This record gives sequence, structure tokens and C-alpha cells, in this order.
Amino acid sequence: MLMQRDELAGCVPWILDQDGNRTEGLDDDRRLSEVQEGLQRHPRVRARIGAVDPQQVRQTLGVLHEADYLEALEQAPAEEAVLIGKLAEPGLLPDTPVCAQAFAAAREGVATSIAAAMSILEGARFSYALCRPPGHHAGPAWLGGYCYLNNAAAAAHTLATAAGEHGTSSPIAILDVDLHYPNGTAGIVARSREMTLHSLHGSTGANLPWERVAPRSEREHLVSFRNVPGSAEYLAHLERAVAEIRREASAVVLSLGYDTIAADPHGGWSFDPAIFADVGRLLAGCELPVCVVQEGGYALGALAQCSHAFVSGLLNGG
Ligand SMILES: [Zn+2]
Repeated sequence: MLMQRDELAGCVPWILDQDGNRTEGLDDDRRLSEVQEGLQRHPRVRARIGAVDPQQVRQTLGVLHEADYLEALEQAPAEEAVLIGKLAEPGLLPDTPVCAQAFAAAREGVATSIAAAMSILEGARFSYALCRPPGHHAGPAWLGGYCYLNNAAAAAHTLATAAGEHGTSSPIAILDVDLHYPNGTAGIVARSREMTLHSLHGSTGANLPWERVAPRSEREHLVSFRNVPGSAEYLAHLERAVAEIRREASAVVLSLGYDTIAADPHGGWSFDPAIFADVGRLLAGCELPVCVVQEGGYALGALAQCSHAFVSGLLNGG
């Protein structure tokens, strides 16, 4: 488990809901403390700080995000979080405010994700980037849904670069099991032949203006549940995605959101935290290295249960 430095500094105090009203921001360091507690209850989990060379973070961000976008974030105001319309995905209204502290935290999140990928390159079968803010809504030139920089794509790029240096041509698969459609990761994967994306998510009509989304490239594979799925139906789809990844990829980056459980304030599904034991077991069964990157999950009272179930399934099944 790779822990993030200085995560507390960059909490945004509010976010806009679907009706455009300001609502309390729920992405703060307490989430990571709860997830950490659940992970560390497992005797085989080891924790360290995920520090990497800032130059490597800058280089990685320069590959994933457009230069103008990164420059706009660097100029974010220090005093107050503000909405900047041009930083939303085209067709979407801005919902996530920007400030210097939030950008600093997002950069630390990317550093933690790169460190987790490097731990796989050093020989670990599994690693877990305990990072925030989440990243999967951050695209090449847009932010949204608490996300500024794409942590999962940073981990995948780190793994793909090393694989390329060793002459491996198989892509790195990003498997996204957060409740929400990863529009940012999809935008980045559409531009990168080194990654594929498999996503299981709730109907986008509930939180995006698009009732259905089409894959942006042949490397994007979507399972969109129009109704709230039961756990058996969901796990059957997940098993198929994992089997496909096992055939095509050399490693998996798991964009892991815990917002599919009944208690989640940004959710709407009804899973029990125990489902993450099955998610972990399925990932262990794919026999590829798995680099986990933390996405959403906001039910503070249930996050430790979720992460403990996940890591138990992963480590006991692998
Ligand atoms: Zn989510």
C-alpha cells in the first residue's frame, strides 16, 4: 500500500450537484484514513509513503494531459476555490472548483499512483495507491467530479513505458469498477495505444447529460447497467471483463471505487461491502500484476469494511 503525502491540504469545500446547487465536498482525507484502516487489518499489507521524483510526475502529466490545461491548473487561485467553465469537458457544465491546494493534492495523488506502478515494476504482484482526489473523470483537457489529474492513467503509462522498454507490446488494461462512467480515462485511452479500458458503471443518464455513451475507441469496453444490478449479475460481467483482460493485457490498473454500496452518498446502488471480497478474488484469479488506484467511495462509516473485504479477497485468493 502506497500512502499519499500531504493529502489533507487540498480538500475543496463544495461541489455543484446535478441541479447546479452548491453541496458539501465529500472528498477529504478521512476517506483515506478509513480505507487505510481496513487494508491494514490484513496482516500481509505493508504501508509506505509513495514518493517519486517530481520530474517523473511532470513528464507523466505532460503525456496524459494537454499543456494548456496543466498551465491553467498551475495558475489556479490560492485563496478561494472557483469554477472555470473552460476546464469542463465539452458539453458538460463545470461542477468542481479549482484552487492551488486542490491541484497540489492532485499532483501528490499522481505521485502516489506512479509509486504504486513502480512497486509492480520492482516485482510486487499487487500494489494499492491510497490517493485522493480521485482521477477517472479527469480527461486530456478537462476536470470534473472531484477529479483534476488522472491517477489510473498515470499508473498505466508508467507500467506501459517499462513494458515497452522490455519489448512487450501487450497493452496495460485499466479496469474501472467505480459506480460512475470514467469519462476522463476514456478520453485519455482514446489517444493512447498503450492502454485499454474496461468499465462497469451505472447508467450515465443519472449523473451525466448523456443517457448512453458510446466507446470513444476500439480499446474501450463498456458495461452500463440501466437498472441497479444484483451482485450475481454484476460479478458475472466482472468475471467476463477480467477474462478478456487476461487474454489481452500484461498488467491491470484497477480503478477501485467503493461508491457502489448502499450507504454511499454519491451512489444509488445497493451492494453490501462484502461484495469487494469477490471483486478482489476475481482480480487475483487473473494471474496478472494488479495495481489498484483509489477512485470514489464516500460512505465514511463503511469504507474500512469495503477495503478490508477487497484486500482479503485479493490476497487470500491470489
Ligand atoms: Zn464514483
